[in-house]
Amino acid sequence: MIYTIEKAKLVTEQLRKFTTAYTHHVVGQFANIEYWIDEVQVALKAIDEYGKRFTNIRDAQQAWIDAHGTKVYDYCPMCGGKCELSDGTPKPPIRTSSTDLKEARKALVDVTYYFLIRCFKIALLDQTELEKLCAKIGTSIDPFDLEIRE
Ligand SMILES: [Zn+2]
Repeated sequence: MIYTIEKAKLVTEQLRKFTTAYTHHVVGQFANIEYWIDEVQVALKAIDEYGKRFTNIRDAQQAWIDAHGTKVYDYCPMCGGKCELSDGTPKPPIRTSSTDLKEARKALVDVTYYFLIRCFKIALLDQTELEKLCAKIGTSIDPFDLEIRE
């Protein structure tokens, strides 16, 4: 499980459910819109700061290995234990692909946007409020999406 991606996906799936729900359900979820926008912002921040956190992990791990001469020997079936060919250098942490992070980010912003558009169409918020909420998640409104109200 990749924590940062899973966190974004969890919020994305929740908002996707809201977007396609019955109108009275959307109305209910909209009552907590500030909570949900906050959840989106937290998940986006986790994605945006992933690179910095990864560098912290890698550097702290390497500093410890250098200071302690840490060796790790994985079991080798050929040697029947500690591998004769390995010098025991511990493996560095694995970085989450930036493509996966970008995709998770885009999916989350898109789904939040469509939830807000649905709320606008039900007239739960006016265009000014919609613009403010879209700005909070770093997106803008396509006027085409505002045309038809439910
Ligand atoms: Zn071996």
